[in-house]
Amino acid sequence: MKYDHKAIEKKWQDAWEKAGVFHAENNSRKPKYYALIEFPYPSGQGLHVGHPRPYTALDIIARKRRMQGYNVLYPIGWDAFGLPTENYAIKNHIHPAQVTKKNIARFKQQIKSLGISFDWSREINTTDPEYYKWTQWIFLQLFKHGLAYKKEMNVNWCTGCKCVLANEEVVEGVCERCGSPVVHKVKSQWMLKITDYAQKLIDGLDDVDYPERVKTQQKNWIGRSEGAEVDFKTTVGDTLTVYTTRPDTLFGATYMVISPEHPYIEKWKDHLENLDAVREYQAKAARKSEFERAEVAKDKTGVKLEGVSAVNPVNGKEIPIFISDYVLMTYGTGAIMAVPAHDTRDWEFARKFDLPVIEVVQGGNVEKEAFTDCATGTMVNSGFLNGLPVEKAKEAIKTYMEDKGFGHRKINYKLRDWVFARQRYWGEPIPIVHCDKCGYVPVPEDQLPVRLPEVESYEPTDDGESPLAKMTDWVNTTCPHCGGPAKRETDTMPQWAGSSWYFLRYTDPHNDKEFASKEAMKYWLPVDWYNGGMEHTTLHLLYSRFWHKFLYDIG
Ligand SMILES: [Zn+2]
Ligand SMILES: [Zn+2]
Repeated sequence: MKYDHKAIEKKWQDAWEKAGVFHAENNSRKPKYYALIEFPYPSGQGLHVGHPRPYTALDIIARKRRMQGYNVLYPIGWDAFGLPTENYAIKNHIHPAQVTKKNIARFKQQIKSLGISFDWSREINTTDPEYYKWTQWIFLQLFKHGLAYKKEMNVNWCTGCKCVLANEEVVEGVCERCGSPVVHKVKSQWMLKITDYAQKLIDGLDDVDYPERVKTQQKNWIGRSEGAEVDFKTTVGDTLTVYTTRPDTLFGATYMVISPEHPYIEKWKDHLENLDAVREYQAKAARKSEFERAEVAKDKTGVKLEGVSAVNPVNGKEIPIFISDYVLMTYGTGAIMAVPAHDTRDWEFARKFDLPVIEVVQGGNVEKEAFTDCATGTMVNSGFLNGLPVEKAKEAIKTYMEDKGFGHRKINYKLRDWVFARQRYWGEPIPIVHCDKCGYVPVPEDQLPVRLPEVESYEPTDDGESPLAKMTDWVNTTCPHCGGPAKRETDTMPQWAGSSWYFLRYTDPHNDKEFASKEAMKYWLPVDWYNGGMEHTTLHLLYSRFWHKFLYDIG
């Protein structure tokens, strides 16, 4: 007899589903086990081999735990907003929701045919208004707690494609795709203040069961450093503040560099004897992307400000100030102190502009090259710090500057706030209206979800606004606060929004009162085993930990 695997597997898969053998129970006295896969993005190509691999691995564990008497939660869902679907929809003039529906159906049929023991009764879909209602709700809580705010941002704007480009897409001032000039444009964007959670996100790593290398990656991404903020007086009265992790090397600071966009340049223009050269350099810098400007290997360029100098606070020496494009206004204070003896970039810059190089940590030959192996060592040429080891010198100088009042200890993070907006259609609408009188007003919670309206075309507008901006019927609304005329936010949420909390929704997926009940979360969390790709270990895990910690903090 021939074994008809297709028919027989189908028969039993249907029977399992009907009997709910893989359905987890919420009110169970059994011990719980929560196995989680990264939910897939339902692309047009269907499953690839990278999908079933983790599903199968975790399926084995889920089945074993069930046999061991555990109440197992092994759910699946769809992370379905995003650009590939949207681009496909634009090209083929189909609604992205239709594309998504079709792709999910295909994925589902393929996954089901593999017989993986997912609990299909808890299937979620980030593009379902019943799901994104809660994504919007979480955004509103962030807004109400001051963690969502709108900020003017400098963006790279392609004059040809009429869209915002990532730094990596700008090459020598032109668009990588179409070759048109790229200009800097100021755009107002929603941001999430993840930086407020920087320390908590580091501390929290001690309590999570991640592989060591994942923890290290997250720590590097957050980039905590201990240093000091130091004030340098200038010869025209203003003070330049810098952040440095090496205040112990202050005696070796022989010049300063400020960003070409630094506001002091306008303020100082009557003092500057070479204003034309400064202006010319500013114009050149404005044509470069931040990415190009920060490139370490590039030629050192800059212009010395003639007529204004800074004063090194530890020895009272006047030192020159340069503008150079590698110092960015958006990073730190827009000013740095340069210690050429112990930093390769500063050393090359000093050589080019014939500036003094003063060794302050013993050990190298700073006439030949920068001595950068200076994390430990002994201080020289440094006044009262002479003879101290680096670690002691750091403490001594910090205490000294706090006593003298020209600086203080400071902890810094590399982590930046999260740009939480896209000018595209296929994403969660941001539930905010703008009223001329009241400013940004949250949509009342009982009016959620704010649904995506039907539009004719899904392409961004010529001036780079979301296609929603053209939907005047939808955009024009009344202010929930004063009842006057107001406009809806037309940007949508970025990738990562829906996936930042989906693991909470699985615990209570049909709840229409809360994103999940406290009891359900208390019972199921934490996730016992999360199987995902290393490519998601920084952003996805960081963002979801941020939302999770925030939700925990607000109770
Ligand atoms: Zn272009
Ligand atoms: Zn109003």
